Amino acid sequence: MTLETTQTELLVIGAGPAGYVAAIRAGQLDVDVTLVEKDAYGGTCLNHGCIPSKAIISATDIAHDAANAESMGIYADPDIEIPELVSWKDDVVSQLTRGVEKLCKANQVALLEGTATFEDGHTTRISDSGDEHLVEFEHAIVATGSRPLEIPNFSYADEPVLNSRQALALDALPDRLVIVGAGYIGMELATVFAKLGTDVTVVEALEGILPTYESDLVRPVKKRAMDLSIDFRFERTATAWHDHGDGEGIRVETKPAGRADVDADGDDATENDTDTLDADTVLVAVGRTPVSDTLALENAGVETDSRGFITTNSHARTNVDHIFAVGDVAGEPMLAHKGSKEGQVAAEVAAGESARLEYKAIPAAVFTDPEIGTVGLTAAEATDEGLEPLVGEFPLRASGRALTTGTTDGFVRIVADADTGAILGGHIVAPHASELIAELALAVELGATLEDVATTVHTHPTLSEAVMEATEKALGHAIHTLNR
Ligand code: NAD
Repeated sequence: MTLETTQTELLVIGAGPAGYVAAIRAGQLDVDVTLVEKDAYGGTCLNHGCIPSKAIISATDIAHDAANAESMGIYADPDIEIPELVSWKDDVVSQLTRGVEKLCKANQVALLEGTATFEDGHTTRISDSGDEHLVEFEHAIVATGSRPLEIPNFSYADEPVLNSRQALALDALPDRLVIVGAGYIGMELATVFAKLGTDVTVVEALEGILPTYESDLVRPVKKRAMDLSIDFRFERTATAWHDHGDGEGIRVETKPAGRADVDADGDDATENDTDTLDADTVLVAVGRTPVSDTLALENAGVETDSRGFITTNSHARTNVDHIFAVGDVAGEPMLAHKGSKEGQVAAEVAAGESARLEYKAIPAAVFTDPEIGTVGLTAAEATDEGLEPLVGEFPLRASGRALTTGTTDGFVRIVADADTGAILGGHIVAPHASELIAELALAVELGATLEDVATTVHTHPTLSEAVMEATEKALGHAIHTLNR
């Protein structure tokens, strides 16, 4: 049987923040564009990641802050109706996904439901609940994202084992939760569940939380987590879980990280090293892996690296000139905003423009309590690049605005080039660090100097003054902190 075949100039596969942005940008440029999605518009970020998690974090903070404001003369004991909270969160998500669909249509993006696989370099097969047809394209943009990694013995098909998507869809709170991995997802969700009253233990293979960040930057986050009674088991990995039966919950086994090496040397002390944790549920957040294995990329000749990421150049092109890859599937960092920028560039290049991925730095934010926001180089990275770093730091306890919010644990750190004064990086741990970092992202991108930020009038009283004060400190004339 011959399959129905349609043609499009540009086929975008995947409607997450990388894919839908690419499709809209292509529509703006009058490209005949088709966007194919198998699940929901907005992808993982809008439906199962960034947006639902931030909705839950905001709601939880309202209740937790109200219940912990006695020092401000506020006494409250909020009742949290989880089903209502979940339905509000779902409503936020559906408003956004409907918005994405509307924006696509308004930009003449043709929307297709189904799963795309490559037949050859110019054809994909679209399968949707048993129906199949072909789409021929001149250009394609692969934006299929990533999925949670699994660890041995912890299958997401087993009910007590959750990935982040499943954890964000829970409609009842676990009493006792073990979280494997103290990275972005592990720490954000550990904070949420602990604030909602769940007894949380985090198992992490390395020696600290958020291991990709500087240790003093994460210190206020760890201290706060411990104040919330989150229990940590560092340098351990979860190796198995067992059901107690009769609804009595589960037992999670952990072993020292790197135990496999010891075993290989014939050490038989493994039994003594096993620790067990009682729980109802275990959330595994040990990283994500690109979705490049279900596309039959080989039929189009598109290459991936050893971790499965599609390799691309500075125009977001794969090794096959007319096929692009953007977002998580195209490599680290797996951040939505990085994917969106790549999507715009790929769409512009496919439309014949001369765009490039040429931003200097990509900001990152962790929505813990307090938040972390970073951009650009640390002092150590600047030194590694042969630069002499000049560092300025401003502690939140010296900020009037921080005092008025009741949170003073944190700081703003600026890293600049001692020779030129150019701002190379910013590192913030503070309430709203995710917002504050935008000013420093702009500074790094534009090559702004310490003087530029220090002479800019910042609104009083705001936390943003801490950014200005950190630059003044680097210049040796901070007003609200001592210059030694
Ligand atoms: P991650 O890479 O941030 O952290 C994984 C952690 O798990 C690491 O600390 C690692 O040492 C630990 N680990 C790995 N294997 C282990 C094991 N067997 N036992 C114990 N610990 C183990 O990964 P994530 O938290 O799953 O997040 C995945 C991706 O999602 C991130 O790369 C990030 O880009 C993205 N994300 C971003 C945000 C944000 O921007 N705020 C939030 C959530 C997720």
